[in-house]
Order: sequence, then C-alpha cells, then structure tokens
Amino acid sequence: MMTSFALLLLALLLLGFGFKKLAETSKFQLFGEMVTQVNTEEKVVALTYDDGPNPPYTNRLMEVLEQFGVKATFFVIGHLVEEHSQTAKDLQLQGHELGNHSYSHRRLVSTPKAVIADEIHQTDQLLQKLGSPSIIHFRAPYGYKRIRLPWMLAQLKKINVLWNVDPRDYQAESADAVVEHVLEQVKPGSIVLLHDGGGDRSVTVEATARLIPHLQQRGYRFQTVSELLALQAGLP
Ligand SMILES: [Zn+2]
Repeated sequence: MMTSFALLLLALLLLGFGFKKLAETSKFQLFGEMVTQVNTEEKVVALTYDDGPNPPYTNRLMEVLEQFGVKATFFVIGHLVEEHSQTAKDLQLQGHELGNHSYSHRRLVSTPKAVIADEIHQTDQLLQKLGSPSIIHFRAPYGYKRIRLPWMLAQLKKINVLWNVDPRDYQAESADAVVEHVLEQVKPGSIVLLHDGGGDRSVTVEATARLIPHLQQRGYRFQTVSELLALQAGLP
C-alpha cells in the first residue's frame, strides 16, 4: 500500500516536473493559440520590438524603418504608453502595429486571474484610445505561458505571439552579433524578437538599419504580425 502510494507520488512529481519543463519550452502551450512563426514559403518576416515605448530609441527606430519603408510590430508596455504617449501616437500614425505586452511587465505566473485580466485590459484600452483595431495581439512578458495566462488569453480569444528568432539584442555588445544571428536563423514566416525598450537600445537601432537591406537583398518582405497571421489563415 505504502509502495503504490509512493509510486503514485513519484509519478505525480515527474508529471509535474515534465509539465513545468514543457510550459517553459518555447513551442508548447496547453490552452489557447500560440504562434512562434507562420508556415509559408513566401519570403516574409515580421520584425517585433518589445518593452517600449522608449524615447529616443523608439523614435530612432521609427526613422530607420521609415527610411526603408518597413512596418513593424511593437509590443508595448501599458504604463510606458502613458508615460511616453507622444511616441506611442507616432508609432500608430506611422502605420506600425501596436501589440499588448501587459501593463506593468510583471511575470504573469501565479498571478490572480483578476490581476492578469487588468494587465491585459488596461493596455488594450490605452491602445484602443490610440486607434488600434479591435483585435490587439498579446505577447506575454518574458514569453511566459503557464496554465493560467494561456487559459485567460483563450477566453479573450487572444493569440500569444512569441517568436522563433531571438538574437538576444538586449545583451549584445555590438550590432554584428545581432545581425549575424538573425541572418543565420531567419526563414520564411519568421517572427524576430528585438527590443526598443529596456535602456540604451543603440545596438538594436544599428542592427535594424543593417538587417533590413540584407534581408531585402535576399528577397524578404516585411510584414506586421497581423499581416503575417492573415497569411497563415489564408486571408487576403
Ligand atoms: Zn518584455
């Protein structure tokens, strides 16, 4: 009796451990939809920038993107949208897509449902005020996707938009490493994770300015996350 109880306990522990592991790998989510890339043979790629708005780096990025005629997706943090509302407005005006990256950028793990709901709603409301369309995509802070958050996103019919190319620009010392990593990893339908927020983002601005012409030379076009997702769904 004792033995089978111990075995059951062990099995549960292993299950729990495996589950935690799964929840932390980037390709698994139990509930709701999660996207790390889009399956397509078309040479399209989405550049995404997290953790802003963060002037002057977000503004410098906008200049670079405009210079190449590229629209990107910015997963912004709600309280920074309030703080830097003009930069957020400019992003919207220039035709970039704004995504919801929570209100405070806290880890949404073991967080009460009501707090998660607030984190999502507050930022959605701010973005709607700026004129974002009714469907605003979400990217979980730190990419987290354990049970509660994905379950809530599924209720809200939101997709958790993650990435399949992560050059870790936030810790890169030079633009070279970022450019090299992206050029090595990118494939049709890729979602590239970059950061306009979190301090001095000169490396990201420079890497973007060099990446775009390289990718264009290889025949890539740039799309927003919504455009990329529409391609997946076979929409026009
Ligand atoms: Zn983030």
